Amino acid sequence: MFSRQRFRDGRGRRPGNRQVSCADNGAPAVERRPVWFFDLDDTLHNASHAIIERIDARMTDYVEQHLQVDRAQANHLRLIYWRRYGATLLGLIRHHEIDPHHFLRETHDFDVAALLRFERGLGRLFARLPGRKVLLTNAPRAYADSVLAGIGLHRQIGTRYAIESMRLHGTFRPKPSRAMLRHMLARERASRGVAILVEDNATNLKAARAAGFRTVLVRRRGRPGRSSYVDLHVRSMRDLPRALARLRR
Ligand SMILES: [Mg+2]
Repeated sequence: MFSRQRFRDGRGRRPGNRQVSCADNGAPAVERRPVWFFDLDDTLHNASHAIIERIDARMTDYVEQHLQVDRAQANHLRLIYWRRYGATLLGLIRHHEIDPHHFLRETHDFDVAALLRFERGLGRLFARLPGRKVLLTNAPRAYADSVLAGIGLHRQIGTRYAIESMRLHGTFRPKPSRAMLRHMLARERASRGVAILVEDNATNLKAARAAGFRTVLVRRRGRPGRSSYVDLHVRSMRDLPRALARLRR
């Protein structure tokens, strides 16, 4: 399914620097090279070091203030909506009709750079990694832009899908929505098998596998159990070139 041939262009040659080959009618043809879709938090950087804690606290503050509930209940709601819908935002829209843009702005408005932890040399590493790189995060766009700039990947990952762009028919459909994931494959003209989702969240990988992605689980500590929907496990972004070689076999 993920043969070497899939990464060659339509004429069987290895592609050069071109991003997408063009059909005769001028429309971009289907992408044959790898198309990497990267999650952001706890994938490209170590958000669990300090950032997730900060976002969680701000989300709890927001729920407490806007829903007029006590701290314990606010924390409970934040968690159950995140578990049930993949993003606290979705539960707040569905059950409390909050303004999504106000919520995203308020909960992510802090100095990200001061809290970042990440592997050095990511820019050079990604420049050498074959294929196109796309960001696919349930985080808001402004926050994602700040993180990418802070970790030195703003030039390497130009195409970015943040939660604001994960809407189908006007409704938010973040990961792990299979419909949204299939939509992303079509939008990026990535045929089944050349798209790779790199992600720390197993639920998202399971949905992505069903939608037609190859899957790479990022787990920096411990040993993940075997899962039918995880093609490979990496501990570091430095493992990606080796992971690609294995996926091509
Ligand atoms: Mg993540």
